Amino acid sequence: MHRVGIIHGESIIRAVLAAVGRRGVVMRNNDTEGIVAAMVEAEKSTGLRLMAVHAHPDDESSKGAATMARYVAEGHQVMVVTCTGGEAGSVLNAAMDTPEVRGRLTDIRREEMARAAKALGVEHRWLGFIDSGLPEGDPPPPLPEGCFALVPAEEAAEPLVRAIREFKPHVVVTYDENGGYPHPDHIHTHAVSIAAYDAAADPERYPAAGEPWQPLKLYYTHGLSRARMRAFHEALLAEGLESPYGEWLQKWDPNKPDVMDRVTTQVPCGEYFEYRDEALRSHATQIDPNSRWFAVPLHIQREVWPTEEYELVRSLVDTSIPENDLFAGVTAES
Ligand SMILES: [Zn+2]
Repeated sequence: MHRVGIIHGESIIRAVLAAVGRRGVVMRNNDTEGIVAAMVEAEKSTGLRLMAVHAHPDDESSKGAATMARYVAEGHQVMVVTCTGGEAGSVLNAAMDTPEVRGRLTDIRREEMARAAKALGVEHRWLGFIDSGLPEGDPPPPLPEGCFALVPAEEAAEPLVRAIREFKPHVVVTYDENGGYPHPDHIHTHAVSIAAYDAAADPERYPAAGEPWQPLKLYYTHGLSRARMRAFHEALLAEGLESPYGEWLQKWDPNKPDVMDRVTTQVPCGEYFEYRDEALRSHATQIDPNSRWFAVPLHIQREVWPTEEYELVRSLVDTSIPENDLFAGVTAES
């Protein structure tokens, strides 16, 4: 089921095409669903834009995906920018771990990303950097030459500045200084995002990367919260279900602050969890359909924790914390 509903019948499609044509909307694909989505876009467009910057294909589906699906459904434009091609990812789904898949993993990950973007209704852009891989071992091996994490942030920011100046987002989402988890590409995504966010409006910076654009708000996305994990753990046990979180919670250092301490903004998006899950499943080489991503039934998720969490770190508009909307205080004219 598509969230905007599918309209069947040739005459309707022709009428839609005419309507879309009048508004000058560029259609992204040629199937019926794309036409209807374009129509809804034209009818409902709020003129507000959100850009989410991620390290690898699949990160967009595990961090803030339901928020993006919701904003698309509400008529905002959403673009996911992926810094690297995910070339160094291993195949994490046993059912997909075949020589054929491993032989063309880069292409497969591009196809998976395209499916995930379609599931969420977002536009997508690659920055084209090479995945640094997760160095494992003690001491960890050096990062491969030419990889994303070794490109200085000032240099790597240029294509992101260009993307910001072209897409003109009002709101930008990225990772915090810890990268959400300590993968070198995630930490670097943070540094590059900050560099690009701060330079995008300055005509003297990156003059070859387009006309300056000033985004209004910058957020960090926060996924892995102990409070949320505990809530799911308790709800699963209360329903007599198995919980995959028991061991994690036991190992969790009680003195370590929870990311919830940093959260300023909880976006209600429970109605869009199916779209997040569809996007996750699109990354079939990375996400095992039997994994913990799908361990909590959706009715429990909606009841216990129907939001996604963010931390507001820059704002040029008035807003009051706590917020429940990344666009709070933002108007298309601001
Ligand atoms: Zn990643």
